This record gives sequence, structure tokens and C-alpha cells, in this order.
Amino acid sequence: MTFSNIPPVLGEALTERGYAEPTEVQAAVLAQDAADRDLIVSAQTGSGKTVAFGLALAGNLLDRLAEPAAAPLALIVAPTRELALQVSRELGWLYAKAGARIATCVGGMDASKERRSLRGGAHIVVGTPGRLRDHLERGALNLTAIAAVVLDEADEMLDMGFREDLEEILDATPDGRRTLLFSATMPKPIVALARRYQRDALRIST
Ligand code: AMP
Repeated sequence: MTFSNIPPVLGEALTERGYAEPTEVQAAVLAQDAADRDLIVSAQTGSGKTVAFGLALAGNLLDRLAEPAAAPLALIVAPTRELALQVSRELGWLYAKAGARIATCVGGMDASKERRSLRGGAHIVVGTPGRLRDHLERGALNLTAIAAVVLDEADEMLDMGFREDLEEILDATPDGRRTLLFSATMPKPIVALARRYQRDALRIST
């Protein structure tokens, strides 16, 4: 199977990267029935999940990248600084030709630099829960225009005690947003989070 039905600007990035075929989770996310839906996806590290949610966000982003964003359009929350930086790098090459600006907000980094990149018209924000909450509470992060939120490694985030941070972040985004939940495991607290924050989610298991 080849990548088909994806916007050419992302297709070119994948080709340049040498990715000719979608992984299983990418194929599932690209299927017709997943378009524009909330998704609850069980996917392990190494499954290609980052590119999967990158592709899933295309519909929420691509026609709005010509101008700097007045407020971010997509938010990705990840449990650790390392994962957030990795996600940022992956979306960086995937969306470079499309013109996306990405701000990365992670604990232990210079917060004033992050505020500058948030003010600079970022379309996509990637970060860890505590640092994102911090920017939100200081008024540096405006989540009122968010069209889609991705919770990456959601089980890890709950295990690490980030539930309240996540709730505060999600509660600051519009009710009509898409919510994409990626998790290696689906214990009860994840199901509860999904029930509270997702609508008619499509379940994908790979
Ligand atoms: P992830 O599961 O997102 O951590 O991805 C694991 C690795 O697979 C990353 O280095 C990706 O860049 C790579 N990858 C993602 N999609 C593909 C693909 N379709 N073909 C080959 N490698 C891929």
C-alpha cells in the first residue's frame, strides 16, 4: 500500500524522507471513516504514531498556514521533554513545505524564548503538561482558537500525575475541537478521560 489520498504538500515531505508506505496506524488514521473524527488510538512507540497524528491534523491546518496564526490551531501534549522535542522535530519536517510554524514548550527550557515563539504566530504548539499550563496561566498561551488537540502517550501522562494539568488545558480549548487520544494501554482512567473529553470517538487498535 502507498500513501494515497493525502495532501500533495505532505506527500512530498514523506517522499523526501523516504517513507513510501504508511504504517498500520497511519493507514487507519488516513481511512475515510477517521476523517474529522475524534480518535482513540492504541499505538506503541515505533508504530509511526507521530506521523499518524501529523497526517490526521492536515484537515484542521493546511488551508490556514499561509499567514502567521493569531492564536495556535493545533496543540500536542506529550509526557516528557524528550518526547515533545521529538514530536516537534517530526512535525517540523512533515509540515515544513506547508509553512507551519511550531512552538515547543517544555519544562527546563528558557520560558521567555517560548513566549516569543508563541507570540510569533505559531500554528502548532507542542509541549509538556506542566509548562503548557504555566504559559496558559500567565496569559502567554491562547487556546481559544484550537481546532484539534492530540494527547500523546496519554497513559504515561496520567501515570506521571498530569491529570489536573491536562484537564485545565483541555478546559481552556473550544468545545468544538477535535480530540485525538494516543495511548499504549487503555486502562480505566484513560477511558474516563476519553468519555469526558471526546465525542463519538473512533477507536483504532493496531
Ligand atoms: P513513532 O512511532 O512516531 O515514534 O515513529 C517511529 C519512527 O518511524 C520515526 O523515526 C518515524 O520517523 C518513522 N516512521 C514514521 N512513519 C514511517 C513510515 N511510513 N515509513 C517508515 N518510517 C516511518
